Amino acid sequence: MITENEVAPATDASFFGHPKGLGPLFFTELWERFSYYGMRAILVLYMVAPPAQGGLGFDVKRAASIYGTYTMAVYLTALPGGLAADYLLGARLAVFLGGLVIAAGHFSMVFHSMSSFYLGMILIAAGTGLLKPNISAMVGGLYGEKDPRRDSGFSIFYMGINVGAVLAPLVCGYLAQSESFKRVLVNNGFDPAKSWHWGFGAAGIGMILGLIIFVIFGKWLAHVGSRIKKQVVSKASEVAANQSLTAGDWKRIAAIFIFFVFTILFWAAYEQKGASLNLFAKELVRTEFFGMAFPSSYLQSCTPLFVIMLAPIFSYLWVSLKDRQPSSPVKFTLGLVFIGAAYLLMIPASMLTVYGRISPLWLVGLYFLEVCGEMCLSPVGLSTVTKLSPAKLVGIMMGVWFLASSLGSKLAGYLSGFYLADSTRLAWLYGGIAAGLLVSALILAFLTPTVKKLMGRVS
Ligand code: GLN
Repeated sequence: MITENEVAPATDASFFGHPKGLGPLFFTELWERFSYYGMRAILVLYMVAPPAQGGLGFDVKRAASIYGTYTMAVYLTALPGGLAADYLLGARLAVFLGGLVIAAGHFSMVFHSMSSFYLGMILIAAGTGLLKPNISAMVGGLYGEKDPRRDSGFSIFYMGINVGAVLAPLVCGYLAQSESFKRVLVNNGFDPAKSWHWGFGAAGIGMILGLIIFVIFGKWLAHVGSRIKKQVVSKASEVAANQSLTAGDWKRIAAIFIFFVFTILFWAAYEQKGASLNLFAKELVRTEFFGMAFPSSYLQSCTPLFVIMLAPIFSYLWVSLKDRQPSSPVKFTLGLVFIGAAYLLMIPASMLTVYGRISPLWLVGLYFLEVCGEMCLSPVGLSTVTKLSPAKLVGIMMGVWFLASSLGSKLAGYLSGFYLADSTRLAWLYGGIAAGLLVSALILAFLTPTVKKLMGRVS
């Protein structure tokens, strides 16, 4: 699926020392993620809001299940989306068409009807499958095989993702939830109960901005992601795929599958933020800052903000530790410990809700620890997968990586279905998640020598 070295390496360094083609890819993905996280920040809230407040009036179980299925679908389509680009469209056309389909999906949700609601989510999931894996592959395509700037290029790209994710809840959450925007609507003769749909519309406009950048500055990409080159590579990789795998290859694939299982659990906890923690924030948290009320969905901006803050620190840490840095199974274990600790924090937080709304700092603390975990697991996982996969299978293995996000998201939705604004119940729910993750960290620590053996020389 992902063939990174499909072109001669670009030699220019005009985008922060990187090929200038990174610019359009950075901004297109920034706006795509803006649209994804903006819509997602208000999705569950819209589903559970009563019809009198413009919502769909679903109960929490149904809303959480739809959220889980939707976020699962968004990552599940990465595999067919990548294949479609490899064999049919080329990455560039796939990204463009994907963006159009995503925008159409968000605009469908501007209308208040069941069919436009479901159609919107189907289109966004299909479009994301076309766009997300292929735009990442195009980033890889900017660099030659041995170009040392590749990892750093991916870090810059990951920052773009998170800039979009910080801005999105602020814009879409403001339009959908804030009292001040509702007043603007009333003053201009619009129905304030329809505020949700302004939020969904803003997500669609974000995607359009990304597409405009992609088209106008597409020439900077030279022939990265073009169809003809892609076919040549596909043919070449078909030939390579016919060669059988060695015993060492199988061992490294087994190591990837061990990481895969633990990664599912990580995302199942992490993705509570759009579902149960979103409801928690709305119903049980004092959403005000120095006396100023803010929409609960704003708290969704914490994680990407922390990613932007912590990414340079973690990358500095790994680089400065050089040979002494922990191996990838140890980093994965640390990731699970951090997120387990994050949910431990939710036990006292939940218990305190008996006395009324709690400080937003509880959630801020939880998100901070979660992102420490993300930094140990997510970028490390991406790079480990590329290092461990036999070259001819790297695309499929990246699809497997996204499959872990997909299954983890569905599990997150399932767990969120147990949400009820009751302190004891919440302490059990989050305490259970914490226990599950800490136990799985222990199991992975126990498995580490075996995983290291399977990994061979790769660390
Ligand atoms: N936050 C990252 C993104 O949006 C990774 C998400 C994931 O793999 N689940 O691209």
